[in-house]
Formats: sequence, C-alpha cells, structure tokens
Amino acid sequence: MRYENSLEFARQQDQEDTLKEFRKKFYIPILGGKPSIYFTGNSLGLQPISTQDYVNDFLQDWANFGVEGHFHGKTPWLSYHELFPEKLSKLVGALPEEVIVMNQLTVNLHLLLITFYRPSTKRYKIICEGKAFPSDQYALESQVKLHGLKPDDTIIELEPREGEFSLRTEDIVEAIKRHSNELAVVLFGGVNYYSGEVMDMKPITHAAHEAGAYCGFDLAHAIGNIELKLHEWEVDFACWCSYKYLNSGPGGVAGAFIHERFISDSSLPRLAGWWGHEKATRFQMEKGFKPILTAEGWQLSNAPVLSMAAHRASIDIFDEAGMGNLAIKSRKLTGYLFYILDQVNEADDSKNLTIITPRNENEHGCQVSILVKKGGKELFNELQKNGVIADWREPDVIRIAPVPLYNTFEDVYKFGQILKAGLNAVRHIPEGNKYW
Ligand SMILES: *Cc1c(COP(=O)(O)O)cnc(C)c1O
Repeated sequence: MRYENSLEFARQQDQEDTLKEFRKKFYIPILGGKPSIYFTGNSLGLQPISTQDYVNDFLQDWANFGVEGHFHGKTPWLSYHELFPEKLSKLVGALPEEVIVMNQLTVNLHLLLITFYRPSTKRYKIICEGKAFPSDQYALESQVKLHGLKPDDTIIELEPREGEFSLRTEDIVEAIKRHSNELAVVLFGGVNYYSGEVMDMKPITHAAHEAGAYCGFDLAHAIGNIELKLHEWEVDFACWCSYKYLNSGPGGVAGAFIHERFISDSSLPRLAGWWGHEKATRFQMEKGFKPILTAEGWQLSNAPVLSMAAHRASIDIFDEAGMGNLAIKSRKLTGYLFYILDQVNEADDSKNLTIITPRNENEHGCQVSILVKKGGKELFNELQKNGVIADWREPDVIRIAPVPLYNTFEDVYKFGQILKAGLNAVRHIPEGNKYW
C-alpha cells in the first residue's frame, strides 16, 4: 500500500474504512479539552458505550429477582458464562467447548500449569521467553518451587540474538530440540508485551510436541489483536485477560483454552471447584468431583456476572466487526504507523528512535514499540502534553498501539506531527540525562 504523510490522505483512508462506524461505539478519553489520541488499547481497552446497558440489565435483574435472578430475568446467571464460548472461540480459533471464561489471567495460568506442568525427575524443564511479563515469571517460578525444584535449574529463558530485539522461530525450535529429553512445558506470550513480536505459534507448538512436551501461550497481547487458530495449531493450553484489546474493564473476567484432546479426560490432575462439576449433579452436593467434560471442567467458582456483563458488551462488538476484518484494517493502520515513524526518523538527524517491533506483517499486531536513545521519558511526557495517551516502559521504550476498532489514520498522522515536535523539544538533552 502507498502511504502519504498528509492529513488529507489520512482522512481519505478514514472515509474509506469499512469499520469506521465502530469508533462511535466507544468513549474516547478527553485530554486537554480534546479527544485524546488513545494508543494504549494494548494496556487498557476503551469502554464501549453499550457496557452501561449490559451492566444495567444485570443490576435490574438483581433488583427485581434477588436470588431468583439465577433462573429468571433477561439473562439468567446460572448459565451466563455459557453465552461466551461461541463468540470467543472465533477470536481464538477454537471449538466452543475448548473455551471458558473465568477468573483472571494469572489464576488461569496457574490452573493450567497444575494440569500441564507435571515434572518428573527426567522431564521437568520449562522453556519461555527472557524477560517475560513479571506475572508469568512469578507464576512459573512458584509452580517450579511447588514441585520442590529450583527455578534456576528448571526455567530456560530465551533471549534475542546479540543486536536483535525479537526472537527467531528457528532459534526457539533449536532450543526446544536441544532440551528435548528434559523438557516438560513450552510457554510463550503469543504476542510479546514489550516488543510487540508475534510468536509463530504453530511451529513452536509442533516442535514442543516433537520433543514430548506440552505447549501453552499467554494471549494477553494477542487476543483481539491478531487472528488465532489455537485448535488447528494443536496448542495444548492458553489463557488471556479481557481488559486489554477486549475492552472489558480493569481486572475484567479472563479466559482459558484447553485443547479438545484433553477436555474429556476426567483423570487429568487439576484444582477443582463446584462450578467445574458435572451440571446434572452439581446441586446434589455430593462427595467426589466429576468434571464437566469441556473446558468448563476447569471452573472453580460460580460466575462473576457483573464483570461478565461488561465483557459481553465488548465481545458482541467484536462479533459484529469480525476479527478477520479487524486484522485487515490493523495491517493497514499499523503499516501507516511504521511509515509515519520512518518519515519522522528520516527528518531527525539525531536518529533518536529505533523501532524494536518486527516489520514483517506476520510478525507484529497493532503494537509498535519504540526505543528512545535519549530523553525517552521526556519525549513521552511531551507526547502526553500534546494529547497522546501512550505507554512508557522502563528504561527506554514507548509502546504505541493503534487499535483497529477505534483508532483512525488521522490519529496516526497527528501522532507523527506531535512526535516530530517532541523530538525537537528533547534534542538538547544529553544521553542518559534527565531534565526534570
Ligand atoms: C497484562 C498481562 C498479564 C496480567 O495478568 P493479570 O492476572 O490479568 O493481572 C499477565 N501476563 C501478560 C503477558 C500480560 O500482558
């Protein structure tokens, strides 16, 4: 696609965008009296305007029916969670019975590791990315200790090659082969939260299986961002949160995927709770856990309906827009961001910016991470002063995510102008120095 660095071009693209009406379904935060350029949907997605109606419907049912709301009202609570798998399974490329909405991301990661990380004296190692999201690091570390093992001898963290910012699939596959005799689990972020790199999940899963290990993905930055085919790729397990690209509010109810191969195996070890118990006999309250033979068999507690109401509002919007359409727009919009960043960089003789997100269309979603050599925090503050809500990661990275549901080409164009001015404002700062 041929891009141009002009407001006319950006507006023309927005005019022609078949998804343009979706922006109107969201509240755009105001900064300095104007709608902000909101580029942090990768951290906290915006609130759909319809969320209030979904939440109000729940509150009404609760007010009108009390406990009977489990069975009566607009959307009875007993089966509320069953509304999700059909639509969510399209977002992750799964069968509905492989998907469950429950808990929070890190809780789900723990529950899945209890099932899939069962180290033996011979097979106990875990391969993951270096500098994984802290919660994932802590989850792995504590799981390893739970089994009486030492994290340093057990967890193998893969780093990009010298001078590179992202992992190469061939290097991951090679590491999996090298450790194949001792490998228990391979776990990666589907999209790396820092660099924005999309992992090539199919060959990684395949290599893990060849090695005799299980393979799982943390999809916090992947779901609602890129197209996924978990079932077809034969991924064993996955989990995600709903407050980033899925716009379901801070700490919103999360989700998990367990491949069809495992869901009907009631002998699999797991941490159980009553909501995972066979529905027909759940309320007989008898001894002996009998799991539901779908991903629901990993549920612990009855559904957090208040949080699920907000989740539903957003999932319905995704269903209407279609992940395939969103992915097409995302490629154009993020392609435009790359182009604009190159324009800004060319004009900047201090060459202060390095894009660390891979440029290949299949290796990035909508997020672009920019490493700032000098005055990074100051540049970030300049952006914010001028209406851009972006994300700062210590020590030197600004993450920018134009989200296809609600961001525009005009947002990206204007961001380029603000970035250019910001670079000028920080150019006198010596490397490593702070000016406030
Ligand atoms: C956002 C994120 C989390 C957050 O976990 P919660 O349990 O939802 O707080 C975990 N892992 C990754 C990779 C993330 O991006």
